[in-house]
Amino acid sequence: MSLTVSPRGTYDIMPDQALAWQWMEINIREILVAYGYGEIRTPIFEHTELFLRGIGETTDIVEKEMYSFTDKGGRSLTLRPEGTAPVVRAYIQHKLHGQGGSTKLFYLGPMFRQERPQAGRFRQFHQFGVELIGEDSPVADAEVIVLAHELYRQLGLTGLEIYLNTVGCPVCRQEYKKALITSLKNSSDQLCPSCRLRLEKNPLRVLDCKEASCQALTAQAPSLHDFLCQDCRDHFQQVRKLLDQVQVKYKIQPKLVRGLDYYTRTVFEVINHDLGAQNAICGGGRYDGLVEECGGPSVPGVGFASGMERLFMTLEQKGLLPAFSRAPQVYIIPLSAELTTVSFEAAFILRQKGFKVELGYAPKSLKAQLKAANKSGAPLAVIIGEDEWQDRQVTIRQMYEGNQLRVDWADLAVQVAQLLPPAEQD
Ligand SMILES: [Zn+2]
Ligand SMILES: [Zn+2]
Repeated sequence: MSLTVSPRGTYDIMPDQALAWQWMEINIREILVAYGYGEIRTPIFEHTELFLRGIGETTDIVEKEMYSFTDKGGRSLTLRPEGTAPVVRAYIQHKLHGQGGSTKLFYLGPMFRQERPQAGRFRQFHQFGVELIGEDSPVADAEVIVLAHELYRQLGLTGLEIYLNTVGCPVCRQEYKKALITSLKNSSDQLCPSCRLRLEKNPLRVLDCKEASCQALTAQAPSLHDFLCQDCRDHFQQVRKLLDQVQVKYKIQPKLVRGLDYYTRTVFEVINHDLGAQNAICGGGRYDGLVEECGGPSVPGVGFASGMERLFMTLEQKGLLPAFSRAPQVYIIPLSAELTTVSFEAAFILRQKGFKVELGYAPKSLKAQLKAANKSGAPLAVIIGEDEWQDRQVTIRQMYEGNQLRVDWADLAVQVAQLLPPAEQD
């Protein structure tokens, strides 16, 4: 352990990068608001029980990855590993179902999972997501899928592909689980160790195991699509028809089940091919039993979550982030200790007028301070020297051209506004 290195799986977003993050977040928020979602900011930690119920006790997240701790009051709390359960908890707590109609909420912020760190994966990472609660129409599913796709498209990504599937409802899935277990049981010694456990606790998850031996077995297994009840079949058909209508392309992936227990009917992922590798940047689906499971009324819901680190990396590597400058417009240079009060006041006056100002704190040589001004990227320097100040004047230097002009102290802000390069003038 080292005091001077951040904990494993965490990282700092430094000021230049923070500007790019802010840009990405502003764009995401704008699009989500345009689709009718309101932002909800839930606590960073919740009662551990919420995630046991809301995510499922047999998932990797709950079994291995949660940051749980007991507080001084003896309560078990957990840093949120995902955003849906907290939003559902807030939906129930604030009785939003009592307002009638559907509720559209989005979140954006850090999440915490103790995963093995690898490229683009962190233990404190960022996600945004939407939850459309109280609506069972397939139009809601299709709208959520289109929103995810449009959002990435509007940010500039081009290599997008939607993977779509249905996992049925608890009724038809029950039949399927039995058939799947029967089919896999005889060759269960060929399953990987995790899947041997899954087969008993959560057999559907064997379907999306990445191990070749497991994939070979499930390729022979019966398909969930053959077990769907009529309602689930119609629902899926309708979702597809809506996506076809607006020409949003998708690929049916019969083995896509997603990691979480709570999905019903529609599940989907958005895959991004922009960086070569096939990365899911977004996943989601319908969760009709979740609100009730978390202690609320029986209302349906659908949503998605999107990791932001990978999205950021893609935007950065494809040059889709605009250039940001933290350079000041004016750099103020006092040439003697006595004049630091004047330079301090000059900064105050110019900042009150709305200029971005940087200030030399101690009177070094003119040469050293001009160097600092140059390094800051400011197009103008205001030099405050003894001679000029006797006449209540200061010098404005245009850093790029090297031109200098003596101006009256009273006219400082007006002169700065006029001398800034056109690109810096509002
Ligand atoms: Zn069904
Ligand atoms: Zn496996």
